[in-house]
Amino acid sequence: MAKKVLIVGGVAGGASTAARLRRLKEDYEIVMFEKGEYISFANCGLPYYIGGTIADRSKLIVQTVEAMADRFDIDVRVSSEVEKIDKTNKTVTVRDLKSGRTYDEGYDILVLSPGANPIKPPIPGIGEAANLFTLRSIPDTDAIKKFVDENNPKHAVVVGGGFIGLEMAENLHRRAVRVTLVEAADQVMAPLDYEMAAIVHDHLADKDVELILRDGVKAFADNGRTVLLNSGREIAADMIILAIGVQPETKIAKDAGLAVNARGAIVVDSRMKTSDPHIYALGDAVEVTDYINGQPTMIPLAWPANRQGRIVADNIAGREAAYPGTLGSSVAKVFDLTVAATGNNEKLLKRLAVDYQVLHIHPGSHASYYPGAFPMTLKLLFTPQEGRILGAQAVGFDGVEKRIDVLATAIKGNLTVFDLPDLELCYAPPYSSAKDPVNMAGYLAANILEGLVDTVQWHEVDGISARGGLFVDVREPFEMALGKLDNAVNIPLGQLRRRAGELPKDKEIYVYCQVGLRGYIACRMLMQLGYKCKNVDGGYKTYALVKGINGDQGEKLWHTTQDNGVTEVMTDTAKLTVKLDACGLQCPGPIRRVFEETAKMREGEILEVSASDPGFKKDIASWCDKTGNTLLKGEFDNQAKKFVALIRKGREEAGAPAAQPAGAAKKEGATLVVFSGDLDKAIASFIIATGAASMGKQVTMFFTFWGLNIIKRKDKPLVVKDTIAKMFDVMLPGHAGALPLSQMQMAGMGPLMIKYIMKKNNVDSIDTLIKNAIAMGVKVVACSMSMDLMGIKKEEFIDGVEVGGVASYLAATDDAGLNLFI
Ligand SMILES: Cc1cc2nc3c(=O)[nH]c(=O)nc-3n(C[C@H](O)[C@H](O)[C@H](O)COP(=O)(O)OP(=O)(O)OC[C@H]3O[C@@H](n4cnc5c(N)ncnc54)[C@H](O)[C@@H]3O)c2cc1C
Repeated sequence: MAKKVLIVGGVAGGASTAARLRRLKEDYEIVMFEKGEYISFANCGLPYYIGGTIADRSKLIVQTVEAMADRFDIDVRVSSEVEKIDKTNKTVTVRDLKSGRTYDEGYDILVLSPGANPIKPPIPGIGEAANLFTLRSIPDTDAIKKFVDENNPKHAVVVGGGFIGLEMAENLHRRAVRVTLVEAADQVMAPLDYEMAAIVHDHLADKDVELILRDGVKAFADNGRTVLLNSGREIAADMIILAIGVQPETKIAKDAGLAVNARGAIVVDSRMKTSDPHIYALGDAVEVTDYINGQPTMIPLAWPANRQGRIVADNIAGREAAYPGTLGSSVAKVFDLTVAATGNNEKLLKRLAVDYQVLHIHPGSHASYYPGAFPMTLKLLFTPQEGRILGAQAVGFDGVEKRIDVLATAIKGNLTVFDLPDLELCYAPPYSSAKDPVNMAGYLAANILEGLVDTVQWHEVDGISARGGLFVDVREPFEMALGKLDNAVNIPLGQLRRRAGELPKDKEIYVYCQVGLRGYIACRMLMQLGYKCKNVDGGYKTYALVKGINGDQGEKLWHTTQDNGVTEVMTDTAKLTVKLDACGLQCPGPIRRVFEETAKMREGEILEVSASDPGFKKDIASWCDKTGNTLLKGEFDNQAKKFVALIRKGREEAGAPAAQPAGAAKKEGATLVVFSGDLDKAIASFIIATGAASMGKQVTMFFTFWGLNIIKRKDKPLVVKDTIAKMFDVMLPGHAGALPLSQMQMAGMGPLMIKYIMKKNNVDSIDTLIKNAIAMGVKVVACSMSMDLMGIKKEEFIDGVEVGGVASYLAATDDAGLNLFI
């Protein structure tokens, strides 16, 4: 028998229901009420129209009233608000918003897809803020676009770091509006866990979006020209976007006595039926079951609304259909980044006390040798026994959502992590690797669950370190410039097998590398050699990202070329000598290549390096800083999708004028390379150094080879050493007090005589000379290369000694009028 079906809401859920129902039931009378002027518009595209990516407004309207009526024979009534439901008589009261007239309409079946409204709390001053906008509909979009077009705002405050807030931040930035984003939580993008969101935070900083976390809006003042935060901070704003979430638009359902949850979402069963047998509800307005944990939740996304629309239509048409719950698969573009997630995150699993395992990997988006490959960060959560997939998150520049989609499919297909290596996914170099990131995640998860490797997480590192845990850094020495854990012992992976004897067998060893892979290999090696070993999951990269290590370095040097049409022009191309393409190489590959190239270059020459590793931006800033080179400029080329950095060999302040012609600059420094370990030469070098320092010179003393003995402390701590290093220890003087003389050694009498003469003539002892020099600001640098060769550790040096590469010495000579080799 033909039925009369009324649908409230004419966009995602409502329009899907109507279209499917007509395809199933030609004889049903279908009426769709929409209080707005448009049906079936692209809510998700609205921010991009404001930003200009979608230029043609008509493209936002996926289906017109006329087309819907013609094609599907649906009675579409726009500007028609359903104000009341009478369950008993099965009627609704409708107001024609154009004429103001109200009328009743009877139904056999009623479908509610009214969506959710942007939350607009009664914050003091909100009513007077004429420059404040929320975004849900086409009229909202028109209002925001008009305001930007006509008022040319310079600064916007976006309140809320969810996907609408972030999309608006990006699109206002595209319109050359400076953005401050205020978020009450400690991170943006709630579906992500903190360490994954940290990548987004970092990226926002790169894009000059000011991010204020853990702060909320207390009030709006001056008609919205000032935003007052709880912290007391005041921000001037030309415009404000409020995007702090949505609440179900369910007043008519509540008034009609339908069951709703505490937040007003309509309660439905698996067939999307409400507490009334003649009323269905769907979309943003309903409570759903979390597919992973089975708990009731609300997940306002377009896929569930569309899927539920079809299920509702099927059920109305007599085809049994059930909605199994929502996984929450979501993706967002945040400037150049893609951020995607599915299932439950770690925060939620913790809150629900679900037992889980976690892993982080940083694979490439496709084969590294094919241009345009970008590393991504992929996090996988799974149960510790069966390996059931609980959730996944990924952040990167390319291929991110594809991996999350595969994992979302795996979850729905009830696959476990043990099935992931066996997923035969498409492969050719431009698209993936023969071992896709999803396969890799599966391999690692299986390794963990099968006990082949044990891991610790980034948030456990500090605690382990504080308890005196032994960390072994298996990266190459040149990677130390990217930062390292305090007290970590550096044994590069290639040396580990041979040097394993330096490590204790009775103590847990925590191994780490840059991204976790070499750490895993090291762990396997050590475990098989009888050591107790755990790998720091995700490597130093994950830890450093969360800790904000290197966070400030080089920020101001990075610009984007495309976003707002502004391209900062490089100031010093004249000396560009070497171009290096490090695209496709994963960390530390690009840094290694820079290291190799700069080693061949002369002081002052400039290297242009391009890399696709997103971490390269931070790494290169840090590397330049630590190695005495100058990062002149860095930018992300959106079109070519790569980072391009200009590095001047040697130290020069960023932004300072180009190198002066030889002889023109005033040389204020002095450098001394102390190669010798003889007492008399050590004394002479420190006397010269303190003399130069007292004349106002910036003095750098670079101790290398035997010179390192001069700066060793008397009360050295015990450090783990290999046999050769131990032999050096026995053979060489242990501290400055035990240095020999270059001439007249006289079976130890010479040094004693010198010390006596110095005392008699009121010349400070060598120990005092060293202390004084450091106190006067003399930079005492130990050569890292010689330290490695001689097995000397930083802990063996007196306080105040820095460890540096030869680049730090060379950088210091730049400004030095005095260069001595002792
Ligand atoms: C700016 C923006 C960007 C988004 N981007 C994404 C994205 O990228 N990915 C994603 O998955 N989701 C996105 N969403 C969310 C997605 O649009 C929603 O989840 C989806 O539209 C929900 O569908 P719905 O049918 O429940 O509600 P809606 O699509 O909002 O439709 C509800 C309609 O009902 C009408 N209505 C309400 N009450 C009445 C009444 N009493 N009488 C008559 N009509 C009524 C409303 O006017 C509204 O037009 C975005 C949303 C916005 C606002």
